Formats: sequence, C-alpha cells, structure tokens
Amino acid sequence: MHVLIINAGSSSVKFTLFSRDDLRQLADGMVERIGLSDTTVHYQNGAGGRSSRKRPVADAREAVGLIADMLMDADGGVIDSKAQVGAIGHRVVHGGEYVQDAALIDARLIGIVRDCFDLAPLHNPPNLKGIEACQAIFPGIPQVAVFDTAFHATLPAHAYLYGLPYDCYRNAKIRRYGFHGTSHRYVSRKAADLIGQPVSSLKLVTCHLGNGCSVAAVCHGRSVDTSMGFTPLEGLIMGTRCGDIDPAIVLHLMRTSAMDAEQVSTLLNEESGMKGLAGVGSGDFRDIAQAAAAGNRQAQTAIDVCAYRIKKYIGAYAFAMGGIDAVVFTAGVGENSDLLRRLICQGLEQLGIVLDPEKNAAGNRTCCFIHAVHSRVRLLVVPTDEARAIALQTIELLGSGSWSGSTA
Ligand code: ADP
Repeated sequence: MHVLIINAGSSSVKFTLFSRDDLRQLADGMVERIGLSDTTVHYQNGAGGRSSRKRPVADAREAVGLIADMLMDADGGVIDSKAQVGAIGHRVVHGGEYVQDAALIDARLIGIVRDCFDLAPLHNPPNLKGIEACQAIFPGIPQVAVFDTAFHATLPAHAYLYGLPYDCYRNAKIRRYGFHGTSHRYVSRKAADLIGQPVSSLKLVTCHLGNGCSVAAVCHGRSVDTSMGFTPLEGLIMGTRCGDIDPAIVLHLMRTSAMDAEQVSTLLNEESGMKGLAGVGSGDFRDIAQAAAAGNRQAQTAIDVCAYRIKKYIGAYAFAMGGIDAVVFTAGVGENSDLLRRLICQGLEQLGIVLDPEKNAAGNRTCCFIHAVHSRVRLLVVPTDEARAIALQTIELLGSGSWSGSTA
C-alpha cells in the first residue's frame, strides 16, 4: 500500500509516491507549465530511472491522469494498478481559522478550502483543482488535506491580532495566519527526536530559510508565534520579498511615485528582499554570497540585513517563550549556508548560544547539531521534506482505518 502526495500549484502539479510501511520514496516528479505550449513532464523512480519530456497537458486533471499513467508505466513505473495507492495527501495553503490539523477531504472540507479563496487567491484555487482531479482519477481513494496554516492555528490572540480596529479581524478576517506550517511542524519534531526529548518538553525556534523565509516559536510542540502574517510577505527578508516594513511606505510610494496597488505589490513581492537589496540581479542566496565573497559590499550588506532580521526574531521569540532550548535551521539557505548561520549566531555567546565553527561548516545538508559543547542552547540543521511531512500526517490521520480497499 502506498501514499501519493500532490502539490498542485497555479501552473504545476508536483507529486511524490511513498510506501506506507517504511516511508520509502518510490517515485516523484512534476508536470510544469500546464496549459502552455511547452508543458514539461519530469519523472524519476527510486531505482534511478528518470525522464523529462515536453507534451501538451491542458489542466490539473490531465496532469494527474498522466502522473497515474507514469506511475503504472511498464517501463519505469513503480505500481501495477491504481489500487496500490491507498491514500492521497494534498498540500493546501490556507485553511483560515477553520482547521487546526490535517483533515480528511469531504464536502465540508472542500467548502473550507473554497471559503479561503479570498485569503490565498493564488494558491487555494489550484490546490482545489488538484483535489478534484484526484477524485476523478483515483475515485474512492481517501484524500487528506495538509494545510500550510494549520500548525499556526494554535497562535494565541496576542500573537495573531494586529493593532487595527477589531472589526478588521471580526469582519474581514485580517489577522496573522502564518505559513510554512508543515515544515515548522516537521523540523520541530525531528529536532526533538535528535535531542532525545519529547517535543512537548521543549521550547524551539525553527528558522525556515528558503526563497520564502519564516521563523516560528514552537513552545511544547505548539506554534505560539510566527513571522509570516496575513500573507507570506511579512517577517524576514526573503529572496525577493521585503518582509517587515513600515506600512506607511506603501502609502508613500503610491502617493509620490504614482504607483498603483499592483505595481507596489510587484515591488514588494518580486523586486525586494535579497534581490532588491543586493543589486546583483538575483534573489538567489548563492549568487549574493558569491558576489559578497568577491568583494561586493552591497551584497555583503544585504546578507548582514538578512542575518540581523533573523537574529531579532530569534531573540523576540526566546523572550516570548521565556527561554529557548534549541534553534533549528532548515530549507535551502538554512540547510546550506554555514555563512548565514554563523552571522545569525555571532555575538550571542552571553545568551548561551554558541556555534561550533567546524560542526557548522560540516553541517550543510545533513541532520546534525552545530553548537559547541558548552552551548546552553542547542543549534541544529534539520533538512525539511514537505512531501514526507504530508505523507506522515496523512498516515497518522488515517491510522489503520480508512485506507482504500487493497492490501497490495
Ligand atoms: P523555496 O522557498 O522555493 O522552497 P528552497 O528551500 O529550495 O526555496 O531554497 C532556495 C534558496 O536556497 C535559494 O535562495 C538558494 O540560493 C538557496 N540555496 C540552495 N543551495 C544553497 C547553497 N549551497 N548555499 C547557499 N544557499 C543555497
């Protein structure tokens, strides 16, 4: 019996197939640029077979049909029939205030995904198309939605409310929701396993540093604060997103530069962050680090701004939780940049945060501790794996009960 994970975006459907028993990854891939003239289909199986080809794919339903065909293909496939897929787990971005956990997909849940269209107009509609496509292609197979926001549903009101008129929250649902929840949940539990204590006994700050970046305060296993807010624009300096700014800057830009809302949105989401600050034409951390190493001072300043912002959030969350046991680094930059981790931890020795430079330098891409032996706070690198995290939550939710019929 296997579990298929689907991540349906606006123009792509990514998939991973895991065996339920040992969570071995059997196959993965994606269909990208769906509906365009150059749709590309990538597929690889656990035995090393891989292919990439262009072919027309009109929509999510056709993409999921193609994924099923590739998984069953005589040459390179890993299953004989759809009946071997016992459950499907979906990444869904926004569950609003309605969902605190992964949930079985039924009419009520689909209503919730729809109700959140306004809150995540770029994500929830394609997520729902992925669900509907799977219902058509894999009829009768139980499906589970794992929400990006769900882990942060435990935020207390003092963390999720903005200083706006209360009606903005009551009537327009404007509040902090937080994102990357699946990753923060996964790495907080992995970190607790590594530390050898139950997550319910630990105070952790998890730093998801990829193109999108967020920090979460995870107190005794529950998210109690996080840096992304009403949208994923708030918080840290990201690849191309600005993170925290004075909201009056938006008004100032609109008044003085005659920019409309769409133009300001593009500026804040696509032209800001590391890309905007470093001025090397890219928001990719590797390009910026390379420029800085070659003596580009503006690139170095961008890295310093980025590290300082993360440091501030870690400090704030340590105070908010009344102390911390560990800081966890994950995602593309967090897992790979010993430089950024070093800058973040620099000067925190008096607070009990002491990095071991050698462990840090050797810690890229591995699951490991990177603190010095005398550090009171543990520091860890924990690679995130969203598809596996969704598979784990799907398996957890279904238990031994509601799987589809086959025992294959
Ligand atoms: P996304 O948010 O798109 O899922 P990822 O978690 O894949 O992003 O992270 C992408 C970021 O990780 C990019 O900025 C990239 O430069 C950075 N990254 C990847 N590998 C390295 C590396 N070896 N050193 C520094 N940064 C890296």
